[in-house]
Amino acid sequence: MLPISKDFWPGRPILLKGESFSSWFARVAAANGLRPAELYRIVQPGGDRNPRDLDRYADIHLLSMMSDKTGISVEALEQSTFHRWSGTAYERDDGLVKFDWLPPAGREKAKRCFGQQLCPLCLAEDAVPYLRLEWRLSFITVCPKHQRLLLDRCPACNEPFSVLRQDRHGGIFCWSCGADARGFVGDMPPVDPVPVQEELLNTLSQGWQRLGSYGPVYSFTALRILSIITRLIAGGRHAYALREWIANREPRFALPPANLPRVRDGALLTSRARSVLVGMAHYLLEDWPHRFVAASQDVGMSSRDVRKRVDGAYPFAYADAVEWNLTEPLIGSTRDEVLAAKEVLRKRGHSATYQKLKDLRGGKSRTMGELADPASEGAAWGQGRYWKLDGVSAEVKEAARLAAHRSGESVAVWLDRLVRKELNMPSMRVF
Ligand SMILES: [Zn+2]
Ligand SMILES: [Zn+2]
Repeated sequence: MLPISKDFWPGRPILLKGESFSSWFARVAAANGLRPAELYRIVQPGGDRNPRDLDRYADIHLLSMMSDKTGISVEALEQSTFHRWSGTAYERDDGLVKFDWLPPAGREKAKRCFGQQLCPLCLAEDAVPYLRLEWRLSFITVCPKHQRLLLDRCPACNEPFSVLRQDRHGGIFCWSCGADARGFVGDMPPVDPVPVQEELLNTLSQGWQRLGSYGPVYSFTALRILSIITRLIAGGRHAYALREWIANREPRFALPPANLPRVRDGALLTSRARSVLVGMAHYLLEDWPHRFVAASQDVGMSSRDVRKRVDGAYPFAYADAVEWNLTEPLIGSTRDEVLAAKEVLRKRGHSATYQKLKDLRGGKSRTMGELADPASEGAAWGQGRYWKLDGVSAEVKEAARLAAHRSGESVAVWLDRLVRKELNMPSMRVF
């Protein structure tokens, strides 16, 4: 037991098991009758009006000061920040680099950031509701205890959760509309992502992972490759073809496309979309690099396609696999042939998906993949992105599009939820 120092603040809540630094910081503020922003201005005079994402940006000076005033060791506080995963989830932090699996929370300048996830059912069971640092990892999408998707924004007003901005205390509240997070329930996940989550957490704790024929690699390397593949499946020209390729081999991934809007930036994906995409990417990472190479070749991706998606350096196990197994795209006569085949299909009233082109021309070709129309948007799911709103007035359609975008969901999921609420139906099941 440490002697009570006269320098201690009167309110000194202990750091709870697995609690994030920003969660604890907000509780220290509340215990001393302050808002988080007020406490921040005391400990960082001249700092910003609102604290930055302290799970990442609490530096050693701030941690030492908080330690001096509360009696909790600097080491324990450091373990409540992203520093816990320094050298395992990421290689090092220069304060600028964008982390693959630890997206920012709250707001960065005017941009809404959805990096703070939470399980409302865990909070409801807590004697003292608090945020777990693991909820910041974006490959974690479901609470293993409650088997529900984590929330990454307030279901009432769609603002990202930001504990450092909240005024109310005694719980986790939406800083914007004041809603108590314990009043919400996460949706059922479209697939069970828990086994993959557990494996990735295990990779983090041991610091390395065996990667097929490349043997053991650092955990941040494995996670980086997983992130690159997730992005290839999340958006871009081959996203639909890759999803189809995987779903054809793993039926649990054969899901209505409404679960997976196509987007560029992985960090903006909802937990619903991530729960599927991370599982799919993990499937392609198995038996590295053979399964990934087979998928890339079958959907017609060239080495150029799989390399251009990411800035900066590629992990060796990725670059090497791509370099050796995927070649540059073919050009010239093949291209004309494929264009001709597309024309034939169009005249027959078909969209020129990769599968249709393959049936027509036989064999596989990269050019075919490049020129094919996206699959999975075929007739079964209607024509065009907003077909579900056919016959609806233009202004309602536009308002619905914006509202769905704000909620991070596709129009289909957003509309489904709204209609269910209106008709008092239970929440969506997508199994
Ligand atoms: Zn939970
Ligand atoms: Zn809200």
